[in-house]
Amino acid sequence: MTARVLVVDDLRPNVKLLEAKLTSEYFDVITASDGAEALERIRDSQPDIVLLDVMMPGMDGFEVCRRIKSDSSMMHIPVVMITALSDAADRVRGLEAGADDFLTKPVNDVAMFARVRSLVRLKMLTDEWRLREETSGQFGVLRDEQPLYEVNARRADVLVLDDNEIDSAKVAATLEQDEDAVTEVSSVEDATAHLRAARFDLVIVNLRLDRQDALRFCGQMRANDATRYTPILVVAEEDDTERLAKGLDLGINDYLIKPIDRQELLARTRTQIRRQRYQERLRDNYERSLAMALTDSLTGLYNRRYLTAHMNSLIGRMRDSGKPLAVLMFDIDYFKQINDTHGHGVGDDVLVELSRRVVHNVRSVDTVARFGGEEFLVLMPDTEEALASTVAERLRVSVAREPFQGRDADAQALEITISVGVAMFDGATDSVESIIKKADDALYEAKRSGRNKAVGWQPEGFTTLGAGDART
Ligand code: GH3
Ligand code: MG
Ligand code: MG
Repeated sequence: MTARVLVVDDLRPNVKLLEAKLTSEYFDVITASDGAEALERIRDSQPDIVLLDVMMPGMDGFEVCRRIKSDSSMMHIPVVMITALSDAADRVRGLEAGADDFLTKPVNDVAMFARVRSLVRLKMLTDEWRLREETSGQFGVLRDEQPLYEVNARRADVLVLDDNEIDSAKVAATLEQDEDAVTEVSSVEDATAHLRAARFDLVIVNLRLDRQDALRFCGQMRANDATRYTPILVVAEEDDTERLAKGLDLGINDYLIKPIDRQELLARTRTQIRRQRYQERLRDNYERSLAMALTDSLTGLYNRRYLTAHMNSLIGRMRDSGKPLAVLMFDIDYFKQINDTHGHGVGDDVLVELSRRVVHNVRSVDTVARFGGEEFLVLMPDTEEALASTVAERLRVSVAREPFQGRDADAQALEITISVGVAMFDGATDSVESIIKKADDALYEAKRSGRNKAVGWQPEGFTTLGAGDART
């Protein structure tokens, strides 16, 4: 993984030292010697992470951090504060300014590289979701502008895995200040069972469980789909550096060194919960806007936009493999009368029930789409003409056979029929437009010759696949 690191320090030797260490690990390093220059470098070079000295003349590190974290074009860039002071109060001040982590001088190499990698990995994940959100924002739906640092970090569900009762109780009591709901467990088995049964905003793990391997547990959380993105905060001892580095590589998000400082615990917990909720929102927004852009909200079927895109790739695949593709198009008979007589709401109910019956009557590999108002299309890959004809007739019968009950259970059920057109894709001559046109022509023939009919398109003319009684 290569990333661009901005090193900010007013003392030249410090900059040189970090630059040399990071360059030897193949990071791309840029530097700044004061706060103003740092902000400038961030704007013109877009680093993936900032290593920021606290004590600088003029604008100090806290102020630089605050500015980064309150500017929407920079706030997603992780900041690690570096200071000679090892005072917990200072760490907390940094975290409250929005810093993502804190390292003390002299900087421990293993911890620094692991920390940088872990934060960069996290940033890349967030970048990916921000990008997708921007893309889906172009569809004009669901842009949520709340920035990361305004996301609420209280009332979270937190799981604490610690076999040391005193530490566990201390963590739980501290988190109660934020009204978090804390579940305490003392074994990996119990933790796993809880994670399987419910969703947590954060998991806090003691790195030194007496009889069990805490790192293995963290690795399992990362390998499991349900907990892949759940943040993990590890509680470690001063000399756990090597195992911590391993943990950070495994994907733990942050750590605390004992003795636990309550303010630091709260600050780190809030940071993780906030980030988790922010990312979850990005993912949800993306999925929802994608669903809105590609499906029809009334019936839940794919819409025309999706269908056309999907058909393009499907046709390419069928052409390459020489496998048959069938296209069915159908349309409700005299639907205008339903709306006129019973109202638009009842018409909507008919569309929903019709969609349900159709989906029920085709395979899961088939694509059902609402092509227009009351016009639908079914794509059936790998389907011979004989089977396509059978399915077309089965759809027609599944609609005609059983009357539709609208939203009013007391009202009389409605006799609904559809007309269906079927066409087979010809790899040598057909395009998306021409195959849809063939199915549409067959559908038109079914309408013209009486409705409640399934008709197949043939080069030499149409064939009737099945028909019910004509309605008067
Ligand atoms: P035909 O047998 O020739 O298909 O006659 P038809 O009345 O079904 O056809 P026409 O194309 O004249 O009318 C289609 C109607 O479908 C007109 C429109 O109001 C209705 N429609 C389209 N979309 C919706 C919808 O979302 N909800 C409801 N309730 N009606 C819709
Ligand atoms: Mg300094
Ligand atoms: Mg119609």
